[in-house]
Amino acid sequence: MKAPPAYFDIVFDIPGDLRFSYHIDPRGEAAVGKRAVVPFGRRESTGYITASRESPPEGIKEIKDIRRVVDKEAIFDERDIALAQWVAGYYLCGFGQALSAMIPSGRREASYSAFAGEEEIPPAPLEMSAEQRKAMEAITAENPAASTFYLFGITGSGKTEVFLRAAEYFMKQGGGVIYLVPEISLTHQTAEAIGQRFGSAAATFHSRMSPAARFTEWMRIRRGEVRIVVGPRSAVFAPIRDLSLIIIDEEHDGSYKSENTPRYHARQVAMRRSRTEGARLVMGSATPSAEAWEIMQAEPYNQVPLKEGGTGASPSILRLDLTRRLSGGSPPEIYPVSLEHSEGCLSDELKNEIRKTARMGRQSILFLNRRGFAYFYHCRHCGFELSCKHCSVSLTWHKKLGRAICHYCGYSEIPPQACPNCGSLEAGFTGFGTELIEEEVSRTFPDLRIRRADSDTTSRKGSLEETLDLFRTGAFDILLGTQMVAKGLNFPGVRLVGVILADTGLQLPDFRAAERTFSLLVQVSGRAGRYFPDGKVIVQTFRPKDPAILRACALDVDGFFKAELAQRKLLGFPPYSRLIRFTARSRDEERAEKAIGLAARTALQSLPRGAEVLGPVECPISLRSGYYRKQFLLRGPAMGALHALARRVMEVYTKQKDSRVYMEVDVDPVNLL
Ligand SMILES: [Zn+2]
Ligand SMILES: [Zn+2]
Repeated sequence: MKAPPAYFDIVFDIPGDLRFSYHIDPRGEAAVGKRAVVPFGRRESTGYITASRESPPEGIKEIKDIRRVVDKEAIFDERDIALAQWVAGYYLCGFGQALSAMIPSGRREASYSAFAGEEEIPPAPLEMSAEQRKAMEAITAENPAASTFYLFGITGSGKTEVFLRAAEYFMKQGGGVIYLVPEISLTHQTAEAIGQRFGSAAATFHSRMSPAARFTEWMRIRRGEVRIVVGPRSAVFAPIRDLSLIIIDEEHDGSYKSENTPRYHARQVAMRRSRTEGARLVMGSATPSAEAWEIMQAEPYNQVPLKEGGTGASPSILRLDLTRRLSGGSPPEIYPVSLEHSEGCLSDELKNEIRKTARMGRQSILFLNRRGFAYFYHCRHCGFELSCKHCSVSLTWHKKLGRAICHYCGYSEIPPQACPNCGSLEAGFTGFGTELIEEEVSRTFPDLRIRRADSDTTSRKGSLEETLDLFRTGAFDILLGTQMVAKGLNFPGVRLVGVILADTGLQLPDFRAAERTFSLLVQVSGRAGRYFPDGKVIVQTFRPKDPAILRACALDVDGFFKAELAQRKLLGFPPYSRLIRFTARSRDEERAEKAIGLAARTALQSLPRGAEVLGPVECPISLRSGYYRKQFLLRGPAMGALHALARRVMEVYTKQKDSRVYMEVDVDPVNLL
């Protein structure tokens, strides 16, 4: 019989690929996959046991004892540990950091540009359409034509029902299922509906759960008591047994990419897991990401036989179209309306439609992705602009609070009466936010009842649900808000959707700006008139000729991507290249500049063929929460060479690193601000 291992490798929640060896604890409880408290430097620290050894690693003189083992049963198995190692390697973070991200910590997952879930889950299974049946057959086929599928379909075409039936099918075969949804759409109702359908075999993760509750669910999954896990991006790590199916609903959603270390993308991790664990992957959206769209175009599944496994093979996705709305009804009429010659923020067209809708006894939704009253303080005399003391962004005027607030760091001040620079009185706020629209709509339609839903009015728990419930019952006529109101778009009483300003995201210095704007508009529009044939959408814009806006109004996904992908190819941006972003941030601007310069020079010295360094430059948001931010991008045709280069840059940088500078590495960055 082999002697039990006496030594263990432990990793900590810190950057770098550092493992430390310890001797077994006095009680002999240590085992791979458990957490342990150990002496680390001059203090004690909790780490993860990732491997065992019979003898200590060579060349190490003194090995300390593990003080105490935290867990009775292992929280990670070999498979989890291997996945964490892959995450650390791909996203260039610490092994321990990757493990840390896997256990549900209760750390809030920020969702930005997220759009509410596609549809409510039907309480009882309905008869499926021919297209739905075809999709089901393809996904569940014994010898499938692909292992990755994409349900590409308009809102209301029944993607959710296909997801649920596929889940049921694989669970009946004894398999486990992971069902990912954008954070924002994981409402109480979704969780409940899934619970009803799958009973105690289901576990749900959401950001409002306490860390303890999340941990309990994690262990239930680990023990095999759970067969299906529903949750936002971190649920992709769920230790579900015999994983057979991963579902990614609203695949285009920005909240699938983590904005904290490790900066992983749930889609990338899902692809990895489906490959290594032999599970099928089904994604879905009415507006796929450019990356997914490009893969679907590049390799038509019905012409090219699929290569099994093989890491070198290009991925293929079998596209399954859902073109028909189950409830009947056609897509709504969508009009772009120019705001160029309009006074105020409501065009005559929009005002007329609001009035007409109210006369019909129906409801309107007004959408603006910008909260507050006005967002831009400008002096007409000297050009002075009021921006945050800690961030290089302008302050937003919140009239009810009587303060100008920074939406990035929360700094606020009472805005000046006269220009602080020249004393001119011709200075003040312009540009409209939801608070101003509320005032203007109330003034224009004193007889109509309006309610605003944005993070200023719905911060109290349950207040958004309350507002939406009231809207559903017809308690008021107009719902106004930021992306939150999208949840209200499924309501049968709604006839009109007014997009107050479509261009809010278009000017951002990011090559994905058009894609995001397009996707948002199609998502909003697709929801209007879902239950009625006479739905109307009015899209107000200062750029009525912008192709992204025009194609969104035509619901022309194909046309949009044709033009957008041609442009990306020309400029060499993803999906036609890969990117790794380096950001240096420091309270001292010079130090940030020096650090990023050093990293960029190192990269230039060993640049692989076809790769380049873009920058270094200031980040578009050059100051944030008091930190100066500088960046450069590594760009190249393949990730392998970029990874190697990025590791080399970090190695060199770490040797001469300035402790007052934070260097962040982001592989496949989604946010470039
Ligand atoms: Zn001035
Ligand atoms: Zn700020």
